Amino acid sequence: MLPTPPASRNPLRVAVIGGGIGGLTLALALRRRGLAAAVYEQAAELAEIGAAVALSANATRELERLGLGAGLAAVSTEPTELIYRDGRSGARVAAFPVRDGGAYRARFGAPYYGVHRADLQQVLSGSLAGEGLHLGHRLTALDQRGDVMALTFANGAEVEADLVIGGDGVRSVVRRWITGGEKVRYSGTSAFRGVVPMGLLPSLPDPEAIQFWMGPDAHLLHYAIGGEADSVNFFAVVEGPEMWTSERWLTGIAAGEHRAGFSGWHPAVIEMLDALPQTQRWGLFVTDPLRRWHRGRAVLMGDSAHAMLPHHGQGANTTIEDAVTLAELLAAGGARDLDRMMRRYQGLRQARTRTIQRSAWATNRLLHLPDSVGAAELAQRDARMARFPEDFGWIHAFDARAAVAEVIAGESRAA
Ligand SMILES: Cc1cc2nc3c(=O)[nH]c(=O)nc-3n(C[C@H](O)[C@H](O)[C@H](O)COP(=O)(O)OP(=O)(O)OC[C@H]3O[C@@H](n4cnc5c(N)ncnc54)[C@H](O)[C@@H]3O)c2cc1C
Repeated sequence: MLPTPPASRNPLRVAVIGGGIGGLTLALALRRRGLAAAVYEQAAELAEIGAAVALSANATRELERLGLGAGLAAVSTEPTELIYRDGRSGARVAAFPVRDGGAYRARFGAPYYGVHRADLQQVLSGSLAGEGLHLGHRLTALDQRGDVMALTFANGAEVEADLVIGGDGVRSVVRRWITGGEKVRYSGTSAFRGVVPMGLLPSLPDPEAIQFWMGPDAHLLHYAIGGEADSVNFFAVVEGPEMWTSERWLTGIAAGEHRAGFSGWHPAVIEMLDALPQTQRWGLFVTDPLRRWHRGRAVLMGDSAHAMLPHHGQGANTTIEDAVTLAELLAAGGARDLDRMMRRYQGLRQARTRTIQRSAWATNRLLHLPDSVGAAELAQRDARMARFPEDFGWIHAFDARAAVAEVIAGESRAA
């Protein structure tokens, strides 16, 4: 873990917009490096988006370095295995040990966790102890005056900053200022989700595994969460509706609507979908890859820069990578030359997150293959699932801090 240096007089005024997973991780990562930041969050109290999150080694290694390892372990479940199943027969298509035999930690040097979002937020915000956190501050406008950013909030507050970091999620105000447009896109898919007590799932095989149940035009993903693995978080994704007309990403549904895409599926899937009353459908939105992540003295991180489909479970994980990258760069002299710092940051983050964004789209198709594609293509899909560790190990093996060090060392050698 990084030691926390004595409180420094950071000459740079850093304003982080959004107290989500990214904003809180960034504030903590800066703090551990002796730099201060003010976090402005619109909610009056820290809000949850989605019920749970799966954290992979590319994020847990950073959270451990921030000193959060024990706190996180206490509220998380390590999945026994990663399993892909046929959604209707329940047959195992491919399976890989995770906790079993210590396989995942041995390969990636850090754990894989299922964690309730409220618990993750608690671990992050508990460590911050509220320092620099300004709740009830919804950013409505930003403007650059010389080298200073002027921020206006809905509550009437006006603040100046030397650097603004937009961690304000998929519908980011900071992104609109940087890119001049919204660039948020409905993916054509939607989801139902829930956290179900384990006791309500008697038909579920391998209850502590992370499992994808695949079928025509739909899939269901679930994993156990909590220190005692006493609940299962599920996320059931279906194709459609074609258009998303609601202003928001949630709409009400009719009774039984959530089950329509899963007719004839395995009893464990139906049991999970029906365990609790379902009243809402989530539209899945993404951002188109951005050409520029920064403008003037403002820069994006997390969903504001690269909101992605959740099929690699990497939205939060790549956001944590962004946060650590920014903190490392700022601590490594970036504060003295912000333009250079932001160029380096974009250089480090853009290609990786874009590749994962694209891969998540491709994975959606694989998870939802209809029977009409024929036996040969379905067999090809199964063969690809069986290659998961070879094909996607690079996502989990990534070390954000090492990547920054490598770039800085490379530049020094070239200078
Ligand atoms: C249902 C669901 C399940 C998911 N599961 C996973 C998973 O298993 N693994 C994974 O890695 N990712 C997952 N994701 C993606 C993950 O949640 C996001 O990628 C991640 O939360 C992004 O973090 P962020 O800090 O960029 O944005 P957010 O967590 O969205 O936080 C943004 C914050 O900014 C605040 N804000 C917004 N606008 C303003 C404003 N104008 N002024 C001030 N504050 C503002 C919001 O209130 C919020 O607190 C999932 C997403 C969903 C929807």
